[in-house]
Amino acid sequence: MVKAQNVQKNFGKLKVLKGINLEVKQGEVVVIIGPSGSGKSTFLRCINHLESIDDGLVMFENKTVSVKGKELCQLRSQIGMVFQRFNLFPHMTVLQNVMEGPITVLGKSKHEARDLAEELLAKVGLADKAENFPSQLSGGQQQRVAIARALAMKPKLMLFDEPTSALDPELVGEVLSVIRNLAAEGMTMIIVTHEMGFAREVADRVIFMDEGKIVEMGVPEQIFTNPRHPRTREFLSSIL
Ligand code: ADP
Ligand code: MG
Repeated sequence: MVKAQNVQKNFGKLKVLKGINLEVKQGEVVVIIGPSGSGKSTFLRCINHLESIDDGLVMFENKTVSVKGKELCQLRSQIGMVFQRFNLFPHMTVLQNVMEGPITVLGKSKHEARDLAEELLAKVGLADKAENFPSQLSGGQQQRVAIARALAMKPKLMLFDEPTSALDPELVGEVLSVIRNLAAEGMTMIIVTHEMGFAREVADRVIFMDEGKIVEMGVPEQIFTNPRHPRTREFLSSIL
């Protein structure tokens, strides 16, 4: 579904991605871990072409993501993204937030969009918050709305960039549980997280990035219990 070949990205003189190679198959859950500044967010943003790349290739379903205009819109509608900050539309109700994409981008009728939004809000456990505004919700609830909003576009791939990092500790679990359910349903996902227990449980593969490179990649069991690279070991012992 996703293929990154020798992806390189610079911000001015700063080399942020130094040749990333990764393939993600349909239904796979890949978790990316690594220190701050190692290029994790930048790499995720290259996948849906929120960042252009300087060398290499990113493919989504065997087509380059370096496209423009209508094609780019179409690509982005197939790739859902959830960020650390929830960035919901503050002037819209929860229900309207989830209905917006299907109506404006997919051209669904209001009626269809409402049915879908209600179904998705129920799925993330927020059916009773449909008429509230984002400011009336906790961070965990807002993040669950953000996930419902992304799912409303019926994406083939979901990208999560530290979806629980901005949350109070007691709100992390409810968001992880929604993502865990998506994994169980077979959603293809690439997740950047510092929640190692969650990574271990949900990932098919774990990638350790450092200084713009993939240092080590393996099944969770191997990465967490028997990391091969000294930098992986050092990182894991610093956070566990
Ligand atoms: P991570 O998500 O692993 O913490 P990022 O991908 O956010 O890392 O950032 C990698 C490096 O790129 C950092 O040094 C960061 O300061 C730099 N960087 C990220 N975005 C930009 C940008 N838009 N302009 C300049 N530098 C950036
Ligand atoms: Mg980041």
